[in-house]
Amino acid sequence: MFINFLNIKDKGDVFMKKRIIQTYGDDPWKMTNDILEKSKLEKLIPKNASIGIKPNLAVAKPSSSGATTSPIIVSALIEYLQKHEHKNIIIIESAWIGDSTKKAFNICGYTDISKKYNVPLIDVKDDSYTVKTFDGMEMEISNTILSLDFLINIPVLKGHCQTLITGALKNLKGCISDKEKRRFHTRGLHQPIAYLNKVIKQDFILVDGMCGDLDFEEGGNPVQMNRIFCGTDPVLIDSYIAKNIGYNPYDVKYIKIAEHIGVGSADIDSTEIIVLNKDTSIAKPSSSRKVQKLSHYVKANDACSPCYANLIRALARLDDDGLLRKFEGRSIYIGQGFKDVQEYGVGIGQCTSGMSKNLCGCPPETSAIVEFLKKI
Ligand code: SF4
Repeated sequence: MFINFLNIKDKGDVFMKKRIIQTYGDDPWKMTNDILEKSKLEKLIPKNASIGIKPNLAVAKPSSSGATTSPIIVSALIEYLQKHEHKNIIIIESAWIGDSTKKAFNICGYTDISKKYNVPLIDVKDDSYTVKTFDGMEMEISNTILSLDFLINIPVLKGHCQTLITGALKNLKGCISDKEKRRFHTRGLHQPIAYLNKVIKQDFILVDGMCGDLDFEEGGNPVQMNRIFCGTDPVLIDSYIAKNIGYNPYDVKYIKIAEHIGVGSADIDSTEIIVLNKDTSIAKPSSSRKVQKLSHYVKANDACSPCYANLIRALARLDDDGLLRKFEGRSIYIGQGFKDVQEYGVGIGQCTSGMSKNLCGCPPETSAIVEFLKKI
């Protein structure tokens, strides 16, 4: 993986190369516009195409819970598409079993979006289905999804208690019947998630990494991550999500299977990450008890939000492995307030390079923080 802060110079399809475009910040409207302009999304979409926007509205909770896709990102995307004469748009989703998609549309702000931009909301639970097969596995797929010319997937960057992460590949679970969702669980989730992505092709992925849950699909422990990124390969995108959460891509079984059957590439190491800008907004205290517990190990002084979030996610991974105890009574330093401070201690990020043990980077990646702290 190599990070490039320069502008993209290619003409035409900027995703011809193995590439992810990312931006940091605290203004999702502007960030979405910036990233769409750079990706030249409008040129990837055929003229008069029927476009489906697939957010993650698994539960009827606002995006601040860390569970669902920000309505600001979706609104900015629709305005961008309409401005570029792509007007045949729907929003399509199915909440998880036991929750109502219509309630989620209301609570998450999508009913208002629908009225404002005249974009229909499609509840997959009310749809008809066609059985599609890959490698002998039958799956009941929404007919509306199958009728689309171009699918834009907007997953949330968040953890998942069974599959470790949930991202672009797993978000397509909202395109099948509830009966099929139950069957996915009895089949162990990983293989059907990978196989589903052979049947449904997603054309563009915009990841809402503004505020995603630490461990759970349903939210409750939100971490302010302040980033949005995009690409066209769902396996690559999920591999990058895994890195952002502190895992290696192959820790997530469905990423491995999806790569094996040719959905995409998990080779994040040879991917170019184009970073449009940095975010130096200062991390705010979290209301989540779990995040607060992890923050006891951190001594922050003017830490930027993305840097702080990467450290919190890394501490959560150490906690999973029972390794957090070794930092009991010690502090991990982070933040711009420690620039030029020379001290005996553990520092994360280039601002704490004066600490006796330091991991450089601005911000350092979550997976790199995990490896660094494990070695201490
Ligand atoms: S290393 Fe310092 S400047 Fe860079 S993201 Fe972290 S806190 Fe901010």
